[in-house]
Amino acid sequence: MFEQSKVLFEKSLRVIPGGVNSPVRAFRSVGGTPVFFRKANGAYLWDADGTKYIDYVGSWGPAILGHAHPEVVAAVQAKAVDGLSFGAPTEAELLMAERLCELVPSIEQVRLVSSGTEATMSAIRLARGATGRKKIIKFEGCYHGHADALLVKAGSGALTFGNPSSAGVPPEVAADTIVLGYNNLLELESTFTGLGSEIACVIIEPIAGNMNFIVPDAAYMRALRSLCSKHGAVLIFDEVMTGFRVGLHGVQGHFGITPDLTTLGKVIGGGMPMGAFGGRRDLMANMAPLGGVYQAGTLSGNPVSVAAGLKTLELIARPGFFEELSATTTQLCEGLTAVAREEGQTFSAASLGGMFGMFFSPSPPTSYAEVMASDREQFIRFFHGMLARGVYLAPSAFEAGFVSKAHTATDIAETIARASETFRSLAKG
Ligand SMILES: *Cc1c(COP(=O)(O)O)cnc(C)c1O
Repeated sequence: MFEQSKVLFEKSLRVIPGGVNSPVRAFRSVGGTPVFFRKANGAYLWDADGTKYIDYVGSWGPAILGHAHPEVVAAVQAKAVDGLSFGAPTEAELLMAERLCELVPSIEQVRLVSSGTEATMSAIRLARGATGRKKIIKFEGCYHGHADALLVKAGSGALTFGNPSSAGVPPEVAADTIVLGYNNLLELESTFTGLGSEIACVIIEPIAGNMNFIVPDAAYMRALRSLCSKHGAVLIFDEVMTGFRVGLHGVQGHFGITPDLTTLGKVIGGGMPMGAFGGRRDLMANMAPLGGVYQAGTLSGNPVSVAAGLKTLELIARPGFFEELSATTTQLCEGLTAVAREEGQTFSAASLGGMFGMFFSPSPPTSYAEVMASDREQFIRFFHGMLARGVYLAPSAFEAGFVSKAHTATDIAETIARASETFRSLAKG
């Protein structure tokens, strides 16, 4: 197994740092050689050796319809022959913006960009520009792309003022980033009590998907909304991962809480590069050319990306789509939990829409600390056991998993059967 992947990885190491174009692909947290893929269709991936896998990564979320959905591919092909990029406005961008305004409760105006990172970075700049304040709050374990001010984490649970978690981020750039514990109401309240008038914005993954899968308390989210309103801070929901993944109206639709700004990515490009940020009209009016907050992009609103995104949004808006997707995901989570129990494993799982978490802990975690306390070694053994049996899971214990519309009941049953075998082999040690 993995012969071709090994060859390609060896070669890649010579010309690409670490052999990969995004660090988590390198398998560093699970060990072994990253699998190089050749093609994908529906729920399946084929690696460079021709081995077939049932996929639960879905390109980290975008492949909600399954890979290479024929209607999405046709939309891309049809658009491509009319020109790949104009650097000028197109009608398709208008349709995309109208769709996003319709579907996402908080979005009155929206701007398209080319990645989630651009979306969050621009939303933060907008919040700072609109409020004239500097400080931002983010939460431990939440990932918002690789912009300087957002690449900051904290010692567990403690309130800290920014220590960059990447070399090359000057401390002064991160100094205005306050990192708080996710889902910790007391910490949030005391921070606003002390610094409320200096806080430009709070950015949060309203369901955290970059430390596995954590659903915050509804009461916590309501308090967050009211604290931001009370202190004039902009509330940003980073729905790059959750948008159009957990439901048609994002986590904001699920909780019934409306942020001031929302960032989107992943699913909205249907597998092509795209991001977006949008929200209250009066805030968005601060963007250049109307206002003084500058942001731009040569490929922003790229016609081919927009075609893939629009077709994807059309197909997932069909009645019953998310009900079916949720049912499939629930079936997977319940099945995995059942076979884990049969084999005496400490295991739990949780999901919403087409997004799930699995944990080598007795119940789904509610904080960063609880995620960190799960049995990472056991996850690594499980990951490799599943990979060897043709199931591709995210190569990290801190990533959410994704189910697509293309996953059939048979795929789920197969996955559960292979998990059962894997758990049994783990139990034997
Ligand atoms: C993936 C992700 C990003 C970054 O998006 P890119 O397109 O990878 O730049 C930002 N925020 C969240 C919540 C994400 O999951």
